[in-house]
Amino acid sequence: MYDLIIIGMGISGISAAIYAKNSGLNVLLLEKDTPGGLLNKINKINNYPGYSEVAGPDLSLALFESVNTLGIPYKIAEVESIEVKEDKKIVKTTLDTFESDFVIIASGRKNRKLGLSNEEKLLGRGISTCALCDGALYKDKEVAVVGGGNSALEEALYLSNIVKKVYLIHRRDTFRADASLVEQVKMQKNVEILYDSEITAVVEEDNKLKEILVNKEKHLEVSALFTYIGFEPNHDFLRTLEITDKFGYIKVDKNYETKIKGIFAVGDCIKKDIYQLITAANDGAVAALNVRKQKNVKKKG
Ligand code: NAP
Repeated sequence: MYDLIIIGMGISGISAAIYAKNSGLNVLLLEKDTPGGLLNKINKINNYPGYSEVAGPDLSLALFESVNTLGIPYKIAEVESIEVKEDKKIVKTTLDTFESDFVIIASGRKNRKLGLSNEEKLLGRGISTCALCDGALYKDKEVAVVGGGNSALEEALYLSNIVKKVYLIHRRDTFRADASLVEQVKMQKNVEILYDSEITAVVEEDNKLKEILVNKEKHLEVSALFTYIGFEPNHDFLRTLEITDKFGYIKVDKNYETKIKGIFAVGDCIKKDIYQLITAANDGAVAALNVRKQKNVKKKG
């Protein structure tokens, strides 16, 4: 029996765990995959205080070191459901079932898909969501990046230093990304920008990506397609709780508590205005301190 179970070891979950542990809560962290979450897929971060520039996997490792230094217990297990029994929370995972007074959901977001029929099948066979992980495989080849936000432009820039040519495909005629980044991309000679362009098909040969079709008419023979078209929340295990909006983001109050007493949510899986590393870390800290407050009230009562 724990005071608090935190689901997810991205920056918001680990931030919550640090504050929970330091305020004396008996806490367990659960993660289904790699600690650090989406951080592991980010090439370069230059907006996190304390670091003029840091690679995502390095920040991820630093966070994981904090978990170990503070002796915070964690388990690698996928959460299947959360049930509420009186004021106890029952968290069922692929490993075991755990109980706690409080839960903080910090399950983050996953990459949005284009929704093309063979996209899933070609993931890892020419289609990728991680330039940092897969870019080197396409050295001196032609590749495409789809998206118009900061992620797509940053990763197009990163790839342009490895590959022969990058087609940057965006569905509108203006980018959502920061102006300075757009300027840098435009100056890169081996990046060709295709505005008002939608990928209408991905064509495979021998189980690998062969080419992409743009606006139903333009065939681009590329060795890889990197998709950076935003994110959607990881919320499969939340189905029965009814705490999300119609897009799957968890609704919380100003204390990061959901409509279910004792269940909090933080980071990229909640409905909010700004999705940044620093705001995710803030969410985790505030939620953990609010759990501490409620635990104190419970004890006194
Ligand atoms: P994003 O800002 O949501 O941008 C997603 C892009 O994909 C948009 O340009 C969107 O087009 C396009 N898109 C969405 N669905 C599409 C579809 N079905 N087909 C084709 N294109 C589609 O996502 P992001 O770039 O991953 O950034 C997420 C957040 O992280 C943002 O707040 C961003 O600022 C932040 N971020 C910050 C940094 C940094 O500060 N260094 C780096 C990376 C990310 P439209 O523009 O037409 O909607």
